Amino acid sequence: MVSHSRHGLHRLRDLVNHDQQGFATNVYARLFSIEPGLRDLFGPSMTETRGKFAGVIDHVLEAIPAPGGQDELVEFLAQLGRDHRKYDISPEAYDHMYRALMDEFAAIMGPDWDDDTQQAASQAMLLTTGVMRGAAQMAEGPARWTAQVVEKFQISRDLAVVRLVAQNRPAYKSGQYLEVQIPQWPTTWRNLSPAIPPNKHGEIEFHVRAVPGGLFSTSVVKETAVGDQWTFAQAHGTLHIEPGRPVLMVAGGTGLAPLRALLLDMARRVDQVPTHVFYGARYPGELYDLAVLRRICATNPWLMITAVSEHTEDPWWLDASVTPTALGIEHRYGTLANVVVGYQDWSDHQVLVAGSADMIESTRTRLIITGVPARRIQHDPVI
Ligand SMILES: Cc1cc2nc3c(=O)[nH]c(=O)nc-3n(C[C@H](O)[C@H](O)[C@H](O)COP(=O)(O)OP(=O)(O)OC[C@H]3O[C@@H](n4cnc5c(N)ncnc54)[C@H](O)[C@@H]3O)c2cc1C
Repeated sequence: MVSHSRHGLHRLRDLVNHDQQGFATNVYARLFSIEPGLRDLFGPSMTETRGKFAGVIDHVLEAIPAPGGQDELVEFLAQLGRDHRKYDISPEAYDHMYRALMDEFAAIMGPDWDDDTQQAASQAMLLTTGVMRGAAQMAEGPARWTAQVVEKFQISRDLAVVRLVAQNRPAYKSGQYLEVQIPQWPTTWRNLSPAIPPNKHGEIEFHVRAVPGGLFSTSVVKETAVGDQWTFAQAHGTLHIEPGRPVLMVAGGTGLAPLRALLLDMARRVDQVPTHVFYGARYPGELYDLAVLRRICATNPWLMITAVSEHTEDPWWLDASVTPTALGIEHRYGTLANVVVGYQDWSDHQVLVAGSADMIESTRTRLIITGVPARRIQHDPVI
């Protein structure tokens, strides 16, 4: 790429990032004026969508001029295209998006929109829309599938377990998470991690915590009912067990779900690597799945469980039916990161961490400081 057009793309990127929301608002306004029906694909608020969209354009404009940046970019765009299958976007919509982007680029660049920059931007946006469209068309399996809620029970005021049955074997691997849509929010997609391995009966289980002010999670905990139909799209995530190396699992709250699915898979085979699970929450009574872990432990001698809580006593509003001690499970007090690193040296273990973004970050950092190689620590993306 000649240096003049590279300079033009840098300038364009600066202008996009100067006002990401404004840029994305204008691109979507242009898109909806070309094809008004596309507005229906989005929920009432587009703030989050606009932020993600501008982030993608920023990434493309950064990667295109960078030497050797294109392989990763093509894979990134292909994944994005597969993820967009769930919206039922027509192939023509990618052409409309190309047009909307180019018109907005021209508008923000003003007199700097010269032939070289226009050509470089055009190639970048043709690559973006072309790879996304191609990957979406070539992807195998249905873009979406559904399952029906057959059971829901409330564990505490902000936590629910939801069980569903799909017609076919659900399309995910243990340890992965799924894009989920519920009837209460028909244009909103959120990620949830199945807490059991996929099976031929189509059964799926989720553990959902209502976050304060959360649209999706509050609806699941308060409103989901037997008979609701949930829609699923892509499975993502690469949490897995490498053979031959002992395992440390660190689970905070509902972060237990993907690790539990992996444990249930591991329990199907007699010979497993030694595995130590630290399962933590603020209060002992929030360790809602201890009894299940205890059951898996009872028949799998390779598995060890330590319960961790920041507080020693439950508050008045928690009504825990079982305590770690009553189940014969070791119980330590403190944050998960502190308890795990203070427990023993983990430098020869493979580590899987799941839970809140803060917990993942602090546990990961503390483990690296104590000698666990970063490449051996797995976790899902923290969004
Ligand atoms: C890989 C992955 C797997 C996940 N698996 C599960 C799961 O198995 N069970 C489950 O309950 N949730 C899970 N989540 C979280 C879930 O996808 C939603 O982000 C969460 O339910 C909040 O969505 P919402 O629409 O209710 O909140 P929103 O309406 O999007 O947000 C409301 C407010 O809550 C804040 N917020 C958003 N998400 C969180 C969060 N996770 N913790 C604290 N504050 C938040 C927002 O910043 C905002 O201020 C997972 C997330 C990821 C990235």
